[in-house]
Amino acid sequence: MHVHHLNCGCMCPLGGALFDGYSRGLTASVPCHCLLIETDHSGLVLVDTGFGQGDVQHPERLSLFFRVLNNIRLEHRFTALDQVRRLGFSPDDVRHILLTHLDFDHAGGLQDFPKARVHVMAAEREQAFGAVGWKGRRRFRAPQWRGVEDWQLYGPEGEAWFGFDSVRAVLGAEREDILLVPLRGHTEGHAGVAVRTPEGWKLHAGDAYFHHDEVHLSQRQCPPGMRLYQRMMDTDRQARLHNQQRLRALALGQAGHVEIFCSHDPAEMLQARSVVP
Ligand SMILES: [Zn+2]
Repeated sequence: MHVHHLNCGCMCPLGGALFDGYSRGLTASVPCHCLLIETDHSGLVLVDTGFGQGDVQHPERLSLFFRVLNNIRLEHRFTALDQVRRLGFSPDDVRHILLTHLDFDHAGGLQDFPKARVHVMAAEREQAFGAVGWKGRRRFRAPQWRGVEDWQLYGPEGEAWFGFDSVRAVLGAEREDILLVPLRGHTEGHAGVAVRTPEGWKLHAGDAYFHHDEVHLSQRQCPPGMRLYQRMMDTDRQARLHNQQRLRALALGQAGHVEIFCSHDPAEMLQARSVVP
């Protein structure tokens, strides 16, 4: 089991450090943190896909509102497809894609991997496929999953994982230690993805939080831009804050056992990519 950390998107909203807590200029620099896992028995597994080829070629399939608000840089080099190839693999080697959720900045690359089965919580697909309302229709973009037919859906039941419920991804005949950990709130079926590596557990927390200091300090801190964005995007605020609190307890209590990171924190992205086991 070997894990590559990929940045599959770059969003540069106005606000600089007021948005992301780090950037020096007028704009922030927000990554889309994805994983490419070389498994022992199940081929390549991708966790989230960021923006894909279809988004680069047809930006209009994303909503104008989020393209402008997030100032998205749609470039081929950021796509998972391009990075998979640069690592020396074929797109057909990617057999499974696990999604934390179906927002436009996570599901854009689904069509780039036609041999992959897509794993997601059933509640997430239900919300996305039946998207209603102004926000729902702009965040969930049906053209991103048009033609994707091989779905594996999960209910919340499963096994205990560090005090969380989790459900093991069904990847093949052999058992792999890759789990979906429901973290509802940002969306209905939002889930983290836990992966056991030789160095310990990694938890990709998706959009359950946005800034490192929300879960790694005992008193939550978050720059105003990311705080506002999370409020604007959440489906169930109480559930989101409750799950963030549980992640904080996990991060502080199991620091040596579980490495936790989210989708959009630039410092976590940099840190993960600089540590190559
Ligand atoms: Zn996101």
